[in-house]
Amino acid sequence: MSQVDTTYTPSQPDVEEGIEYWSTQPASYDGVLELSTVPSAIRPLKTPPAHTRRTRALDVGAGVGRVTSDVLLHLVSDVVLMEPVEGFVNEAWKRGASSAEGILVEDSSHARWKGIQNKTKSVTVVQGTLQALDPLHPLADPTTKLLGRLGYEPAEEDLESGFDVIWCQWCLGHLSNVDLVAFFKRCRQGLRDPDNSIIVVKENLCHNAADGGPETVFDPSDSSLTRYFIPLVRGS
Ligand code: SAH
Repeated sequence: MSQVDTTYTPSQPDVEEGIEYWSTQPASYDGVLELSTVPSAIRPLKTPPAHTRRTRALDVGAGVGRVTSDVLLHLVSDVVLMEPVEGFVNEAWKRGASSAEGILVEDSSHARWKGIQNKTKSVTVVQGTLQALDPLHPLADPTTKLLGRLGYEPAEEDLESGFDVIWCQWCLGHLSNVDLVAFFKRCRQGLRDPDNSIIVVKENLCHNAADGGPETVFDPSDSSLTRYFIPLVRGS
């Protein structure tokens, strides 16, 4: 197992400064993307044999819901979308709600959210930070706020039943090393089936340190860290 160096502390991400930065960005795909897009490589997940239950994904640092819309709703039944910035989470809600009513006009950066209008799938929209998030109890922290649920409605509330997929894309840099390790441990506890569930991490990386070891570069403009390799945390 690779160990992250939790003792080395350059400048650390500050939650409020990070949120302040993102609040200045447009609530659109352009606002959350700094790279060009490439054709989708999505392939349907192989359904485990005798698998009958609905599958669940958690999209953290979700911005306006790009990953939920373009990836997760194509792969799983139910998504919990979590994002701290008011303008982004409200835009995500607006896109989901418009999809539910069938009025979302599709263009290159607006896809109608799959399964929401016909209520075969659901998205639950939550405002909150990674620092405060416990995937087993996504609404437990008093700073988190439930905007609502769109699409499929279960007979019983299932928000605390864990996830098959926890998807982290371009937001883990807002956690300090210590908070990142703690977050991964909470995520592991929040996986429904440790043998089949996955945590997906898609982050930009920097170069390794001169001695080949881990490196961490602080960006004061959005108060985030870019890392050389993200560790896989196994065990407790
Ligand atoms: N994952 C989305 C958005 C990436 S942009 C996508 O790929 O489209 C980075 C996102 O991280 C922004 O939405 C920003 O508001 C969010 N963010 C910033 N600080 C955060 C924090 N402390 N906790 C969770 N998300 C955070």
